[in-house]
Amino acid sequence: MTEKDIKLLWGRAANLCSICRVELSQTQSPASGAFVIGEQAHIVGEKQDAPRGKSPLSAEERDGYHNRILLCPNHHTEIDKNQVEWPVERLHIRKSEHELWVRETLTSVADAKMKAQQLAVSSIIDYTVKACQLERWKTWASQMLTPDPALEREIPENCFKLRQRIAASIWPKEFDELMRATTCLGWLLQAACQKFLEHAQLEQTHFVSQRFYKSKGYCSDYDLRVQMYEDWLLECSRLIKRATCAANWFADVVRRDINPLFFTESGKFLVEEGPCERFRYYAIMPEFTTEEKARLPGTMTDPYA
Ligand SMILES: [Zn+2]
Ligand SMILES: [Zn+2]
Repeated sequence: MTEKDIKLLWGRAANLCSICRVELSQTQSPASGAFVIGEQAHIVGEKQDAPRGKSPLSAEERDGYHNRILLCPNHHTEIDKNQVEWPVERLHIRKSEHELWVRETLTSVADAKMKAQQLAVSSIIDYTVKACQLERWKTWASQMLTPDPALEREIPENCFKLRQRIAASIWPKEFDELMRATTCLGWLLQAACQKFLEHAQLEQTHFVSQRFYKSKGYCSDYDLRVQMYEDWLLECSRLIKRATCAANWFADVVRRDINPLFFTESGKFLVEEGPCERFRYYAIMPEFTTEEKARLPGTMTDPYA
């Protein structure tokens, strides 16, 4: 599910089971006060052979908000066991009755405003996850740290669009740190792409680095050109590592402010550097310090300003 759909489902159900209205939480956290873990049950089953699964709906349609109902574990078990009593139609009715009840009895104006803000922010998060390929971060970013770096073809274009999207977004002041982390991620990624494209050429699926010091054959400034090449490689890899810091910061803030389960399965973002001696790769997990986070992105220069 996208972050936006998760927010919709939990927000509209007011974190309550749609059948028994017991309070639910997303994680087992004593801070939330609720100890029952909520389940984002499928209305039409996830697959053809799942409960209520026979349907022409696509995998994507089955995954989204419109096909989910928030339930406690007991009621999730019950609806899956008693499919005759709980057909698809009845679950849809139960879901909209519950959502209507929430709207009419629980929602204050302040609540509604907060929910709308969270929803707007969630859709920027979804966009960011896609544009910088967060799910495949280690794979694509590590390719930039090899002796012959390469960059997936779509990434520069997507980062450019991401920067525009971030700049055009209106951020509620409650989400100041999220705005700073997202902005920082967008800038650093774009700076890395721009730096890399100075000496890279598109070869089918990737932009590939060019050993540009070779291009003129031997000449008197050969050593200087080699030095320039090495400086360029170093700067590209520095920017990718800084962008990885920003990705980790971004995910930490999303977990704190929006969704405690955001990328918890895969954990922190890593990159691998190498091969070094004996073909070894080294995994690194770069993070900003607290002091850096406090002043970012203020001191950074916007590559597109
Ligand atoms: Zn229940
Ligand atoms: Zn189920």
